[in-house]
Amino acid sequence: AKQAGGGRFQMFEPDMQARVQARRCLEADLCRAFRRGEFELHYQPLVNLREQRITGFEALVRWRSPDRGLVPPDVFISVAEAMGLIVPLGKWILEQACADAAGWPNGLKVAVNLSAPQVCEAGFEASVESALAASSLDAARLELEITESLLLRETEDTVTMLGRLRALGISISLDDFGTGYSSLSYLLKFPIDKVKVDRSFVLAMDERAEGAAIIRAIAGLCQTLGIATTAEGIETAEQLRNVASQGCTEGQGYLFSRPRPASEVLAMLTEFNAK
Ligand code: C2E
Ligand code: CA
Ligand code: CA
Ligand code: CA
Repeated sequence: AKQAGGGRFQMFEPDMQARVQARRCLEADLCRAFRRGEFELHYQPLVNLREQRITGFEALVRWRSPDRGLVPPDVFISVAEAMGLIVPLGKWILEQACADAAGWPNGLKVAVNLSAPQVCEAGFEASVESALAASSLDAARLELEITESLLLRETEDTVTMLGRLRALGISISLDDFGTGYSSLSYLLKFPIDKVKVDRSFVLAMDERAEGAAIIRAIAGLCQTLGIATTAEGIETAEQLRNVASQGCTEGQGYLFSRPRPASEVLAMLTEFNAK
């Protein structure tokens, strides 16, 4: 029995070691990638449903790795958070997004995703102000997307800081609403301008009437509170009709466009208007 136990242990050990090794390798690669400037921002349109107009773009980071190809954020954001790289990377993302948006026409907005550890860092507020100053972007054109995990972990300090950023004219969106530790009380407690309804609700809407009822309830409550609502992950014309009829003010998804490189923002605008 002892023998077998040892054997089992040995069967697991190389696997564990391989995973630790792969993780260390990814961390080292990410550090090098940041130094070498291998990260880039892609943009996806945010569409006002009533006006059928693009009002801005969400910045979505990618890693263009010479070895691994174009790596999506799900692979590296949580690792970058755990190793602290998210602080300088997040600062770069903010600066790059503001600089890109400053060149866009007609006051189009840019939405930037934030990580909880990034926001909790002492220099965060100053880094937002310096990104705006360096790009000369009007604060009213910047939206910051936060998640419920940030609100869960935090205190007074976060609330007052978000309040100060809003006083500058920046708006705050609550991302992935309805997943995780979602609580309607957040909508009352925190200074929020927009709720992004998670794609899972848009999918649920296809299957059951209750899905539509949930979206209608969120959109209705938000409307009462003066909060805009964006439906995420719209892929079909039917989903678009449904979320619009349930009262969502804005939509985002592959139906309008996939995220595309910064150089294609003007093409996305032209293509949308031609449709
Ligand atoms: P998210 O903020 O919820 O972003 C929306 C994700 O859904 C994006 O994935 C987008 O490409 C994808 N998406 C958009 N429309 C559709 C659709 O119609 N169908 C489907 N199936 N997916 C759609 P992406 O770019 O891979 O980003 C994944 C997540 O990584 C983001 O989720 C966000 O949490 C995080 N992330 C991305 N960029 C950044 C960043 O700059 N900073 C931080 N901290 N996190 C980021
Ligand atoms: Ca987002
Ligand atoms: Ca989201
Ligand atoms: Ca998400």
